[in-house]
This record gives sequence, structure tokens and C-alpha cells, in this order.
Amino acid sequence: MRVAIVGSGPSGFYAAEALLKQNEVPVEIDMFDRLPTPYGLVRGGVAPDHQKIKGVIAVYERLALLPHFRFFGNVMLGRDVQADGLRELYDQIIYAVGNESDRHLGIPGEDLAGSHSATEFVGWYNGHPDHRHREFDLSQEDVAVIGIGNVAMDVTRILAEDPDALAKTDIADYALAALRKSRVKTIHLLGRRGPAQAAFSPAEIREIGELSCTDLVVRPDEVRIDEVSAADYADPENKKNVDYLQVVATRGEGTRGRKVRLRFLTAPTELHAEGGRVSALSMELNRLDKNEKGMVVAKGTGKHERLKAGLVFRSIGYRGIPIPGVPFDDKAGKIPNVQGRVTDASGKTTPAEYVVGWAKRGPSGLIGTNRADSVATVQALLADAKGGIALTHDEREPDAMERRLKDAGVRFLTFQDWKRLDKLELERGAVSGKIREKFTTVPEMLAALDKNAAAADR
Ligand code: NAP
Repeated sequence: MRVAIVGSGPSGFYAAEALLKQNEVPVEIDMFDRLPTPYGLVRGGVAPDHQKIKGVIAVYERLALLPHFRFFGNVMLGRDVQADGLRELYDQIIYAVGNESDRHLGIPGEDLAGSHSATEFVGWYNGHPDHRHREFDLSQEDVAVIGIGNVAMDVTRILAEDPDALAKTDIADYALAALRKSRVKTIHLLGRRGPAQAAFSPAEIREIGELSCTDLVVRPDEVRIDEVSAADYADPENKKNVDYLQVVATRGEGTRGRKVRLRFLTAPTELHAEGGRVSALSMELNRLDKNEKGMVVAKGTGKHERLKAGLVFRSIGYRGIPIPGVPFDDKAGKIPNVQGRVTDASGKTTPAEYVVGWAKRGPSGLIGTNRADSVATVQALLADAKGGIALTHDEREPDAMERRLKDAGVRFLTFQDWKRLDKLELERGAVSGKIREKFTTVPEMLAALDKNAAAADR
């Protein structure tokens, strides 16, 4: 089997792992990424102060160095190669393209200057080529972060943390410089439901509660548990969150210069402008209720509050971006599928095309969640393959893709090219005492490789 995997984040690598580990069918894998660099959200999403999480890269690298695996970096599906082009050259395609856009609140003022998606901010501090040019007005004293998932925790922590704690990481140099000049004093972290329904993990909220220069402030009345939340509170992770926050509530305001004010039962209804930029946020206060399925939902009380906020981050979840020639469910923001088998608009399976990770199930779960998810999709693929389902049964030249890309003038990177870039980034980092100094634009990456190759030739 010749399998194309589109996307080199965790779900793509776990699909590769599942294919390479089985020995029922010999397999050749070509993995594509639109960026010259591999690893998706592990490189561009995981926060720079969470280096341990990035340790999974060692596993991915071992796979990438195996003989039946090739990496094609800087090759974008829909730009440099078309879905039909893949269908001609591979027996199976696995889409591991993640969710590269974000959900919208649908409230007035959402798109005002100074209102950003968390995706943009995360990409910016992580040196992602799509976002490195963005500017965030960190001269503002009051910031609002909407949503209380783990992405909101990352955004809040990067804003609230002492920049010295980030200085040795792989944070982009321009982001560190901007954070050093930050005048942010208060970060309002806004959840629409209660503490027993919070999407953050216990470890993540605790990290915010233990920052050296920032106090986490919660209101005692907002972390009390009532009858409606009793079932959610019984969940061990939720219980850890609530119990911790109840302790934090007893600390009061604290004495540190910066505050993270975590609020529950608050739903932003409008962002207000002053001088063409966001300056404040209106929100309705909620109460909790149960819907017909027994799920705890937020209901507006009709009472409103207004908060000063000169910078707003919306962190309410991601969604996918459609790829030309590949089915897309616009409502759900993902590739339609039944247990990883891609389906078309009529719900019929598209033979020998599969999907894994966030593109398959939406933006949920931790990195490790993708392992079992990718294994399940690969099992479906193998069952289909044994039943004779493949995109084509023709013999194809192993180098056909390489030749096509070269003929089309596409500058693609191999995994060995990436390893050279990796070494250069590590060397740049060592100069300034950092783990790594990333290249943050594609031309910069390509130029660094050319310079390195020229130096090796001399
Ligand atoms: P998430 O966990 O789904 O959280 C989204 C948050 O937005 C929830 O608090 C949700 O509230 C809220 N929300 C949704 N729609 C809203 C609306 N219209 N108005 C107000 N609030 C709204 O998503 P995420 O934070 O983007 O994270 C995605 C996945 O990546 C998660 O599985 C997360 O654990 C994972 N992740 C993990 C780490 C880590 O381990 N360090 C770091 C980053 C991301 P409701 O609950 O009320 O819907």
C-alpha cells in the first residue's frame, strides 16, 4: 500500500505509527505538510513553557527516520498538489489536517480592532509563519479572555507570567520582547457556565494559581456548588477544579501586581469601541439549568455587567478549513466521516479516504487522545484494504510524487532537510541561551537551508 498522510501533527504521526507497526500489509508512507516544518500543533500550538509535552516529538522523529516513510514539507494540498493528484498516486489517503480556524461568538463588535482569536495569539508567540506578523496591543491594562478551556489557560498564562520564566524557552524572540514591555495588569477570564463545568484541566488552572507575579482571584459565591452541578462535581477532574478554586477563593485579592480575575456564569453579549478599537465588553450574567438531555447549560438572567477591556481574546474552540476537492461539513467545521471513513455530501463513504484527529472528531482531547483515534481509523483502512478497497490498483513508480512536484517547480523539504533546519534553530537558540530560536517565515527557512547547503559545499 502507498499511503498519503496529509498533515504532520500528532494525529498524522499516530496514523503513520499504526500503519508501520502492523505487519499484515507492506506499506509506504508519504506525509505532507504545508509548512516546511513538521509536528503541527506540537510545534505551533503547545505553549513554550510546556516543553515536557513537546517530548512526544522524539517518538515522531523515530518514525520519520524509518525506511518506508518520506516527508514532503512545504507542500500544501489544494495549492501545490490537488486531491485528485493524490488519488492518482496513492492507494489510500489519510487527512490529518487538524482545525486551523476558530469558532466565532456571533456577537456585535467581535471583529473590532483589538479583538483577536486565541489561534492568532498562540501562533504569534509560537513563531508560526501564519501569525508571526500579528500585533497585539499589550499597552492595555485590561484584557478579557473569553472561554475557559486549556487554550484560554495558555493564553492567560503567557500574558500573566513573568517574561523571565519564558526567556530560555523556544518562544519567538519578538514575542518575548513584546511581553517584556507589556503593561497588562488585569486579565478577566470569562466562563459562561460554572466551575464544575470548566473545560480547563486541574493542572492548568493550578499553574495559573501558582504564578510568581500574578494573583488568581475568584469570587467565593461563584465557586459554590448547587444541586444543578452535583452530577458534574462527582466527576473527579471537575471535583479537583472546584476544590482548588474554593481554596483560591479564600485567598482574596492577594498582593501581586497582576491579577487574573476568573469569572463564572458570564456570557459576553457585545464588544464596545472607542476610537475604532475595542475598549469594553458587555456581558449577561447566567444561571445554570439542565436541558432535556440532563446536560448543565447556561441561561441568561437578564442582568448585565460591563467590563473595561482594551484587548480581547476569543478562546471558544477551533474549527477546520475546507480543502478544495475534499468533502467538508461546514456546520461541524470538520471532514464528514463515519468512524474515520470520509463520507460525501449524501453520507456515502468515499472509498479509501480517511480522516484522523481534530479534522475527524472536532477540537477535543489532549495530544495522546489522538493515538487511539488514529489507530481506530487505521484499523478501518486495513479492513477495507484487505477487502480490496483502494483508490487505484495500478502499479505506480515510487518517485512519481517527487517528480511531479519538481516538474511543477514546488520546493519541497525532505525530513533530512528538516533535520538540518532543526539543527540550525537549536544552534541559534544556544547563542541566546534559549532551547531553540525558530525560523518564523517560510522564505527565512528556505534561505537558511540554502546558506547551510552552500557552506557545506565550500
Ligand atoms: P475547549 O476545551 O473546548 O474549551 C472551549 C471553551 O470555550 C469552553 O470553556 C466553552 O464553554 C467556551 N465556549 C464555547 N462557546 C462559547 C460561547 N459561545 N461563549 C462563551 N464561551 C464559549 O477548547 P480549547 O480550549 O480550544 O481546547 C481544545 C482542546 O485542546 C481541548 O481538548 C484542550 O484540553 C486541548 N488543549 C490542551 C492543552 C494542555 O493540555 N495543556 C493546551 C491547549 C489545548 P462551555 O464548556 O460552556 O461550552
